[in-house]
Order: sequence, then C-alpha cells, then structure tokens
Amino acid sequence: MKITGPLVEMLARNKLFAQKYQSPPPLMEMIKGMRASGAGVVVLSCSDPRLNPYQVLGIDPTLKATMIRNAGGRAFDAIRTMAVLQTIGAPGTIVVMHHTDCGMTHFHDSAIKTALLEIAPEAKASIETAKFGEITGSIEDSVREDIALIRASPLIKKTTQIVGLKYDIHSGVLTQVDENKSEL
Ligand SMILES: [Zn+2]
Repeated sequence: MKITGPLVEMLARNKLFAQKYQSPPPLMEMIKGMRASGAGVVVLSCSDPRLNPYQVLGIDPTLKATMIRNAGGRAFDAIRTMAVLQTIGAPGTIVVMHHTDCGMTHFHDSAIKTALLEIAPEAKASIETAKFGEITGSIEDSVREDIALIRASPLIKKTTQIVGLKYDIHSGVLTQVDENKSEL
C-alpha cells in the first residue's frame, strides 16, 4: 500500500532521527536497577495529541517514565499493561493523569456506540454492552474513580504509590487530585 498523508513526512524525519540516534542500555540491564530501587514511574494519560506527557513532566534523559495512553487515560483498559509492567520493572509509582477539555467529556458512550454501530452493525451485541470510558462528571472524579479501580486490582501491588493528577490543557498546570475528597 502506498503511504499518503503526514506519515510520509514523519517517515522522512525518522531517517534524520536515526542518523543521530544513541542506543539505550539493554532492557535486562536497565530493569535490574529499576527493580532494586522501585524508581520506575508509570504514567497513564490520554491519547489526545495536544497532551505531550514527556513535555508536561519534563522527561529528559535524566528522568524516565513508562507511558500508557488511551482514550481518556482510563484505567479499565490499562490494567493489563500495568500488571505486565509490574512484573518487568516493578514500578514504585503509578500516575493517573486526566485532562480538561478531554474528548471523553465531549463524546459519551452513547454517541460512540451510535457511531460504531454504523461502522459495524454486525457487532451490535458487543458494542452495546461495552464501556468506552466516557467522563460524565468532573475530571477530579474520573481520576478518583480510576485510582480506586487500580487500587482494587489484585494484580497491582498494594505498596505502589498511586497519584492522581489533573492537567489543565489551557494553562499547562498540573494539580494533584485529592483521592479522598469527593465533589458529590
Ligand atoms: Zn483526552
């Protein structure tokens, strides 16, 4: 298949990237240190192209974080990845970062289901029973809900530090979400 669109330019840029690329340490070497120190940080955030978690958190070669991204930064379809990462790098910290003006606050499950039913009417039964991660209340509440879900998972170590953050996409400001306070 002939590639068209912005990916053409992206692939051209990769050629330049690869020319200056410095190979990282082998995985098995890197995780030895991570496992011993518990210094690993996993960041769950949204797929939104306006949100660049590397920039938001100042990630550079002196800081490392493992990224999980999905629509809304929702925990229910990130638990598998978190569980796997835990067996590899034993991260001491999991961050749940949701953001203002998120697509999941604008497109709720009912609208997503309607759109998907048009694409795949034959999958009606599975579409109608699926959860798509809508955010109907505040960002703080969706962060709290996801922290609770991660804490409730038997696959996540109870000693893991789990931190909720709200990212204001207009100001760039990150605010810690108080896990125990509810606005309800
Ligand atoms: Zn989003």
